[in-house]
Formats: sequence, C-alpha cells, structure tokens
Amino acid sequence: MEIKKLLEESGHYIMNTYSRAPIVLRKGRGMKVWGTDGKEYLDFVGGVAVNILGHCHPKVVVAIQKQAQRLIHVSNLYHIEQQIKLAKLLVEHSFADKVFFCNSGAEANEAAIKLARKYAKEHAGKDKFEIITALNSFHGRTLATVTATGQEKFQKGFEPLMPGFRYAPFNDISSLKSLITENTCAVMLEPIQGEGGVKIPALDYFKKVRELCDKHNLLLILDEVQTGMGRTGKFFAYEHFGVAPDIMTLAKGLGSGVPIGAMLASDKVASAFIPGSHASTFGGNPLVCAAAIATIETLLEDGFLFDQCKRMGEYLRKELKGLQKEFPSVIIDVRGMGLLVGMEITRDCATIVKACMEKGLLLNCIAGNVLRFTPALIVQEKDIDHMIDILGNVLGSLS
Ligand SMILES: *Cc1c(COP(=O)(O)O)cnc(C)c1O
Repeated sequence: MEIKKLLEESGHYIMNTYSRAPIVLRKGRGMKVWGTDGKEYLDFVGGVAVNILGHCHPKVVVAIQKQAQRLIHVSNLYHIEQQIKLAKLLVEHSFADKVFFCNSGAEANEAAIKLARKYAKEHAGKDKFEIITALNSFHGRTLATVTATGQEKFQKGFEPLMPGFRYAPFNDISSLKSLITENTCAVMLEPIQGEGGVKIPALDYFKKVRELCDKHNLLLILDEVQTGMGRTGKFFAYEHFGVAPDIMTLAKGLGSGVPIGAMLASDKVASAFIPGSHASTFGGNPLVCAAAIATIETLLEDGFLFDQCKRMGEYLRKELKGLQKEFPSVIIDVRGMGLLVGMEITRDCATIVKACMEKGLLLNCIAGNVLRFTPALIVQEKDIDHMIDILGNVLGSLS
C-alpha cells in the first residue's frame, strides 16, 4: 500500500493514542531502518531502548524462526523449557533467585507491586501496603503503574487512582525518609529516570536508599525496564551503584523486540507468591523466551557488547558535548550512562526531531526539551559521526 493510503487508514482504524511521525517503517537491519518509500534512516531510537542488538539481529531471527517451527505457545499449566533456561540465565547474572515472566514493563511492575504488598502483609503486618516512588518517574500505563508514576500528566482523567502511593523528589534522600510511615512497605525507583528526561542520581544515592530500606524493613524495587540488559554498560544499572534490590523488573531490551517482561526477586521475597497468587497467559511462552535467550547469549559473548556500550556511550557524550560548545545557547546539558543519553535543550525538541527525520535520522524527544539517544549496543563510531553531522546541521539551521 502506498504511504498516503496507509496514513489515511491508520487515522481511520487505529485508536488515537500516539502522536506518530508520518512515516511507515517496513524493514530494518542493524542501525538502519527503511520506510515504505525506500528512504533510509539511521536509528538512534532503537524502538525506545528495545532493539538492544539492532534490527533483526541474525541470532535472534534464527532463534525465533527455529522456535516458531517447533512450539510457539503452551500454557503455564506445564513446565516450559525455554522459560527455565531464560530464568536460569537471568538468575546467574543478577542478585535474584527467582523470576516471574509477563509481557511488558507495566506488567512486570504490576507484579512487583503485588509481590511487595503480599510479602509485607505476611512478614511485616497487614497494614503495610504503601509504596514510595519518585516524582518525575515512569513505571507504566496500567492503573497501578500509572499511579506509581510520579507525573500528573499521565494520571489526569483516570481518577480515582490506586491508593497506597507517595512520591518523593528523585535523588533526595531526606524527602524519601520523611515520607516513610507505619504503612510503608517498599520503595520503587528507576536507577536512572528514563522517560523523565534521563536523570542520573548521585553515585551514593542508592546506597543511602538501601540503608534506609534496611533500617525501616522496606523492600527496594528497582525498575530496570529501560536501564537493564546492558543499556548502561553493565548488565543491570544497579551494578554501578554497589547495591542490590529485593525486586527488579525488566522488559524493553529483554527480548530484542518480542513482547516479554520479567519480575525478579530474592528467594525470601519471592516465597510470598504461591500457586494462584499471580499469573499470565502468555507470560514466558516458548517463542518470546527463545528470543530473550538469544539476546542474552549474544550480549554475554565475551562481554564484548557491554564494553562496546561503555565505549560508544563515552564517545557519543563527547561528541554531543562538542555540539554543546558549538551551540551553547541551544544545548543546556549532555548526560547519560552507557547508551542511555539525554541532551537537554532550551527549546521544544519536537521540531528538531522532525527536521532530523527529514534528513534521515531518527531521534526521540522526551519531557518536552530533552533529546534522548538510545541506539543499539552494536552502534559504531561511524554511526555516531553520521548522527552528529545531521544533528549539527539541523541545530545550525535553527540558530
Ligand atoms: C517503558 C518503561 C515502562 C513501561 O513499559 P511497557 O512495556 O510500555 O509497559 C516501565 N518502566 C520504565 C522505567 C520504562 O522505561
């Protein structure tokens, strides 16, 4: 179908929940995607931190093809070989002992909230249910996770929200402390606030959060939906901060694009879930687990991609800071960890994203004035140079 007709029918048939760019992408390889008109784009969005190995990585493609021929889905009424193998891989490389599989980040966070409440009721008292999250956070769009999300713009219109949440400014330990009551059961945070504008806490913030949690018998839930799977240069972002959570959630990069989420916990906490406590029809089915296993095995080969992520992240920030020198009146700040990078600017970034797209570069605008860069971990210097060329050009034509 030609583009004009597709856009027309999209407006006609698809519910209007996204402000979409007027392009239709049909094919992808590595760092590149192509539109229906054949136009090539350099992709620094990467499905918003999902396509961690780039588009259509051959190992993931083959794993999905093989698994699709053998068995796509069976119920969790039975044991699932790929699910067991994937859980083992995740446990062997994290603080966790047990894994629950679901289909998205929001679902993983729902599961985390339910597990924290159930564990606290059984171990700390039946009036323990409150969870402290951060202002400016993002945890998903279901009713519980949109309530956990400390941003009114996502909550407006859906009231009454879920009871049992309080919000502390991120990276502010005394505010967090002051919100603890006799009802508090957990603290839930992103290691780096992603959707909130790539906000990085002080290096000792999470140590202090951990201490506070231990002192008050609270569970620490880390939402690594965006930061996990090597995105920050380590398998999980908590490794940078020298602390381990009690519960962690994953999704985005986990399956290279197939819908899979996971909630991981220590044995002690996980034991609060028993048969009947929680479930998901599709959660951890053979197909998505095969894709996630291939993703992790590729990431772990010689630890190469984690190193690459660290090096390319440093190079990307260096080059963006170069642009900042060139355009000091437009660029306020460049920050990030590994390949989760934000560039804060003095103006609305939607027009910049649009201009870059016309020149064949996909970028993402968050929090109104932050350009976010979440390329695949396979990104190379030449891709970054190409991106900087286009972005520099666009910024130059603005000022
Ligand atoms: C994207 C994201 C979510 C929501 O994930 P979905 O798969 O869209 O439900 C939750 N938490 C964080 C930190 C995210 O970046």
